[in-house]
Amino acid sequence: MEIVAATRNKKKIEEIRRILKGMPVTLLSLDDFPGCPPVEETGKSFMENAVIKARAVAGFTGKPSLADDSGLEVYALGGAPGVYSARYAGLWATDSENAAKLLREMESIPDGKRGARFACALAIAVPDGSLETFEGYVEGRIGREPKGEAGFGYDPVFYPEGHDRTFAEMSSGEKDGMSHRGRALQRLKGHLMKKTGG
Ligand code: IMP
Repeated sequence: MEIVAATRNKKKIEEIRRILKGMPVTLLSLDDFPGCPPVEETGKSFMENAVIKARAVAGFTGKPSLADDSGLEVYALGGAPGVYSARYAGLWATDSENAAKLLREMESIPDGKRGARFACALAIAVPDGSLETFEGYVEGRIGREPKGEAGFGYDPVFYPEGHDRTFAEMSSGEKDGMSHRGRALQRLKGHLMKKTGG
Protein backbone atom coordinates (compact mmCIF):
# COMPACT_ATOMS: atom_id res chain seq x y z
CA MET A 1 0.00 0.00 0.00
CA GLU A 2 1.36 3.43 -0.93
CA ILE A 3 0.75 6.36 1.38
CA VAL A 4 1.87 9.93 0.71
CA ALA A 5 3.06 11.79 3.79
CA ALA A 6 1.72 15.32 3.26
CA THR A 7 4.92 17.02 4.41
CA ARG A 8 8.38 18.04 3.21
CA ASN A 9 9.76 18.05 6.77
CA LYS A 10 12.57 15.47 6.65
CA LYS A 11 12.57 14.87 10.42
CA LYS A 12 8.85 14.10 10.42
CA ILE A 13 9.22 11.76 7.43
CA GLU A 14 12.10 9.93 9.16
CA GLU A 15 10.04 9.59 12.35
CA ILE A 16 7.01 8.24 10.44
CA ARG A 17 9.31 5.79 8.59
CA ARG A 18 10.90 4.56 11.84
CA ILE A 19 7.54 3.94 13.47
CA LEU A 20 5.88 2.29 10.45
CA LYS A 21 8.94 0.11 9.78
CA GLY A 22 7.98 -3.49 9.00
CA MET A 23 4.50 -2.51 7.77
CA PRO A 24 3.45 -3.35 4.20
CA VAL A 25 3.42 0.36 3.43
CA THR A 26 5.55 2.36 1.00
CA LEU A 27 5.83 5.87 2.34
CA LEU A 28 6.09 8.58 -0.31
CA SER A 29 6.32 12.26 0.49
CA LEU A 30 5.62 15.59 -1.17
CA ASP A 31 9.17 15.47 -2.54
CA ASP A 32 7.80 12.75 -4.86
CA PHE A 33 5.10 15.20 -6.05
CA PRO A 34 6.96 18.48 -6.60
CA GLY A 35 3.94 20.04 -8.35
CA CYS A 36 1.69 19.68 -5.31
CA PRO A 37 0.66 23.22 -4.34
CA PRO A 38 1.22 24.38 -0.75
CA VAL A 39 -1.83 23.98 1.48
CA GLU A 40 -2.79 26.84 3.80
CA GLU A 41 -3.32 25.75 7.39
CA THR A 42 -6.48 27.74 8.10
CA GLY A 43 -7.97 25.41 10.75
CA LYS A 44 -8.62 26.41 14.37
CA SER A 45 -7.47 23.06 15.73
CA PHE A 46 -4.68 20.61 14.99
CA MET A 47 -7.21 18.10 13.66
CA GLU A 48 -8.87 20.62 11.33
CA ASN A 49 -5.46 21.41 9.84
CA ALA A 50 -4.49 17.74 9.48
CA VAL A 51 -7.76 16.99 7.67
CA ILE A 52 -7.39 20.02 5.35
CA LYS A 53 -3.85 18.91 4.38
CA ALA A 54 -4.66 15.19 4.00
CA ARG A 55 -7.71 15.90 1.80
CA ALA A 56 -5.83 18.38 -0.41
CA VAL A 57 -2.88 16.03 -0.98
CA ALA A 58 -5.11 12.98 -1.61
CA GLY A 59 -7.01 15.06 -4.16
CA PHE A 60 -3.80 16.12 -5.92
CA THR A 61 -1.93 12.79 -5.85
CA GLY A 62 -4.86 10.37 -6.19
CA LYS A 63 -3.31 8.30 -3.36
CA PRO A 64 -4.09 7.83 0.34
CA SER A 65 -2.45 10.74 2.12
CA LEU A 66 -1.29 11.08 5.69
CA ALA A 67 -1.09 14.55 7.20
CA ASP A 68 -0.14 15.59 10.68
CA ASP A 69 -0.49 18.79 12.55
CA SER A 70 1.09 19.25 15.89
CA GLY A 71 2.18 21.81 18.38
CA LEU A 72 2.65 22.84 21.94
CA GLU A 73 -0.10 23.91 24.35
CA VAL A 74 0.93 25.73 27.52
CA TYR A 75 -1.82 25.69 30.15
CA ALA A 76 -0.80 28.96 31.85
CA LEU A 77 -0.98 30.69 28.44
CA GLY A 78 -4.51 29.43 27.70
CA GLY A 79 -3.25 26.81 25.24
CA ALA A 80 -0.81 29.07 23.32
CA PRO A 81 1.13 28.75 21.10
CA GLY A 82 -1.24 25.96 19.88
CA VAL A 83 -1.88 26.00 16.13
CA TYR A 84 0.53 28.95 15.90
CA SER A 85 3.46 26.91 17.30
CA ALA A 86 5.53 27.06 14.10
CA ARG A 87 5.02 30.84 13.67
CA TYR A 88 4.79 31.98 17.31
CA ALA A 89 7.57 34.56 16.97
CA GLY A 90 6.59 35.49 13.37
CA LEU A 91 5.95 33.90 9.99
CA TRP A 92 9.61 33.17 9.29
CA ALA A 93 10.71 32.60 12.89
CA THR A 94 13.31 29.91 13.59
CA ASP A 95 12.81 27.18 16.19
CA SER A 96 15.12 28.95 18.61
CA GLU A 97 13.32 32.30 18.16
CA ASN A 98 9.99 30.60 18.93
CA ALA A 99 11.41 28.88 22.02
CA ALA A 100 13.03 32.16 23.17
CA LYS A 101 9.70 34.00 22.84
CA LEU A 102 7.98 31.27 24.86
CA LEU A 103 10.56 31.53 27.66
CA ARG A 104 10.12 35.34 27.70
CA GLU A 105 6.30 35.08 27.87
CA MET A 106 6.65 32.60 30.74
CA GLU A 107 9.30 34.47 32.73
CA SER A 108 6.93 35.33 35.59
CA ILE A 109 5.21 31.93 35.71
CA PRO A 110 6.35 29.95 38.78
CA ASP A 111 7.81 26.46 38.51
CA GLY A 112 4.64 24.72 39.71
CA LYS A 113 2.52 26.31 36.96
CA ARG A 114 4.61 25.57 33.88
CA GLY A 115 2.60 22.55 32.69
CA ALA A 116 2.23 21.99 28.95
CA ARG A 117 1.53 19.27 26.45
CA PHE A 118 2.49 18.45 22.91
CA ALA A 119 -0.45 17.40 20.75
CA CYS A 120 -0.47 15.61 17.43
CA ALA A 121 -3.42 15.08 15.10
CA LEU A 122 -3.09 12.65 12.21
CA ALA A 123 -5.51 12.25 9.33
CA ILE A 124 -5.45 9.76 6.49
CA ALA A 125 -7.61 10.78 3.55
CA VAL A 126 -8.34 8.38 0.72
CA PRO A 127 -9.26 9.75 -2.71
CA ASP A 128 -12.67 7.98 -2.48
CA GLY A 129 -13.54 10.46 0.29
CA SER A 130 -13.02 8.28 3.37
CA LEU A 131 -11.09 9.64 6.32
CA GLU A 132 -9.49 8.18 9.46
CA THR A 133 -8.13 10.29 12.31
CA PHE A 134 -5.81 9.61 15.27
CA GLU A 135 -4.53 11.74 18.17
CA GLY A 136 -1.60 11.57 20.56
CA TYR A 137 -0.47 13.70 23.51
CA VAL A 138 2.49 13.95 25.85
CA GLU A 139 2.25 15.91 29.09
CA GLY A 140 5.18 17.78 30.54
CA ARG A 141 6.46 21.16 31.64
CA ILE A 142 8.42 24.09 30.23
CA GLY A 143 11.91 24.73 31.61
CA ARG A 144 13.65 28.08 32.16
CA GLU A 145 16.36 27.80 29.49
CA PRO A 146 17.01 25.66 26.40
CA LYS A 147 18.82 22.37 27.08
CA GLY A 148 20.10 19.80 24.56
CA GLU A 149 20.83 19.71 20.85
CA ALA A 150 18.64 16.89 19.47
CA GLY A 151 15.17 17.11 17.93
CA PHE A 152 13.56 20.32 16.72
CA GLY A 153 11.02 23.00 17.61
CA TYR A 154 10.36 23.36 21.33
CA ASP A 155 12.23 20.15 22.26
CA PRO A 156 15.00 22.02 24.18
CA VAL A 157 12.48 23.63 26.57
CA PHE A 158 10.09 20.68 27.07
CA TYR A 159 10.52 18.20 29.95
CA PRO A 160 8.19 15.21 29.50
CA GLU A 161 6.42 14.18 32.72
CA GLY A 162 8.57 12.03 34.99
CA HIS A 163 11.86 13.08 33.33
CA ASP A 164 14.54 15.61 34.26
CA ARG A 165 15.88 15.79 30.69
CA THR A 166 14.29 17.73 27.83
CA PHE A 167 13.25 16.03 24.58
CA ALA A 168 16.36 17.62 23.04
CA GLU A 169 18.53 15.69 25.52
CA MET A 170 17.03 12.33 24.47
CA SER A 171 17.79 9.98 21.59
CA SER A 172 15.22 9.88 18.80
CA GLY A 173 14.23 6.34 19.88
CA GLU A 174 13.57 7.46 23.44
CA LYS A 175 11.53 10.46 22.29
CA ASP A 176 9.50 8.41 19.75
CA GLY A 177 8.52 6.00 22.55
CA MET A 178 6.65 8.72 24.44
CA SER A 179 6.06 11.58 22.00
CA HIS A 180 2.67 12.86 20.89
CA ARG A 181 3.53 11.99 17.26
CA GLY A 182 4.85 8.56 18.31
CA ARG A 183 1.62 7.85 20.18
CA ALA A 184 -0.64 9.01 17.33
CA LEU A 185 1.47 7.00 14.84
CA GLN A 186 1.21 3.87 17.01
CA ARG A 187 -2.59 4.23 16.86
CA LEU A 188 -2.39 4.63 13.09
CA LYS A 189 -0.09 1.60 12.92
CA GLY A 190 -2.65 -0.53 14.82
CA HIS A 191 -5.32 0.60 12.37
CA LEU A 192 -3.15 -0.23 9.32
CA MET A 193 -2.29 -3.63 10.78
CA LYS A 194 -5.99 -4.47 11.05
CA LYS A 195 -6.56 -3.23 7.49
CA THR A 196 -3.65 -5.10 5.95
CA GLY A 197 -4.23 -8.23 8.06
CA GLY A 198 -0.82 -7.81 9.78
P1 IMP B 1 3.51 21.62 12.05
O1 IMP B 1 4.62 21.26 11.14
O2 IMP B 1 2.48 22.50 11.46
O3 IMP B 1 2.92 20.40 12.72
O4 IMP B 1 4.17 22.54 13.14
C1 IMP B 1 4.32 22.13 14.39
C2 IMP B 1 5.19 23.08 15.18
O5 IMP B 1 4.96 22.69 16.53
C3 IMP B 1 6.68 22.87 14.91
O6 IMP B 1 7.20 23.83 14.06
C4 IMP B 1 7.25 22.99 16.30
O7 IMP B 1 7.44 24.34 16.60
C5 IMP B 1 6.16 22.45 17.20
N1 IMP B 1 6.31 20.99 17.39
C6 IMP B 1 5.52 19.98 16.93
N2 IMP B 1 5.99 18.77 17.30
C7 IMP B 1 7.12 19.03 18.01
C8 IMP B 1 8.07 18.17 18.64
O8 IMP B 1 8.01 16.93 18.61
N3 IMP B 1 9.07 18.80 19.25
C9 IMP B 1 9.21 20.14 19.30
N4 IMP B 1 8.38 20.97 18.70
C10 IMP B 1 7.32 20.43 18.06
